[in-house]
Amino acid sequence: MATKAFAAATMILALSTGHPRAQAPETPSNVRSLNAHVKAALSDGLRRSAIVRELVASIDVAGVVVYLEEGPCAEGVGCTMLVPSPGSIRLLRVNFVLRTPDGATPLLCRRERLIAQIGHELQHVAEIAADASVSDEESLSDLFRRIGHQRGHAQAFETDRAQRTSQLILEELRTTTPRTRRPASSPARGTYDEPSR
Ligand SMILES: [Zn+2]
Repeated sequence: MATKAFAAATMILALSTGHPRAQAPETPSNVRSLNAHVKAALSDGLRRSAIVRELVASIDVAGVVVYLEEGPCAEGVGCTMLVPSPGSIRLLRVNFVLRTPDGATPLLCRRERLIAQIGHELQHVAEIAADASVSDEESLSDLFRRIGHQRGHAQAFETDRAQRTSQLILEELRTTTPRTRRPASSPARGTYDEPSR
């Protein structure tokens, strides 16, 4: 018993002393980014959007890890993909199109647009996380054929829920700008409906 208690105490000490330097404290463990621009938007989204906070919290306990990065998409300015991984934790990648040969996209120019798109893609991540049968490209397509609709490109799908999520986040961000008279944290919960039904 004494050994166990000591071990637990040591662990708590190690966690509390190691945490601040070991990883960025504002970036939740299962939703990650190596891109400075996306990382900053995610932090801002976590601060200003209750919907983003709830999505990240649900992904954090869902046994999936997602990387939010800059990259190409066959359709649109954001896309969510399954990355083949040998372990039991499913790995996902979200690409955001920040630049094209024509220049910067609205995602790079407007912070709110990127936060809304992050929320949109995290909704897709949550949809995938909620279905344990999704393990490869075929089962992924099966899921989105069931819950969504095809969008242009043969392997591109969309869901009404994700589209609604980005709209609601944009509305939420309008009520949580720094110039809002009331504190941003308290009134945000009531500004949208059924984010995680
Ligand atoms: Zn979508």
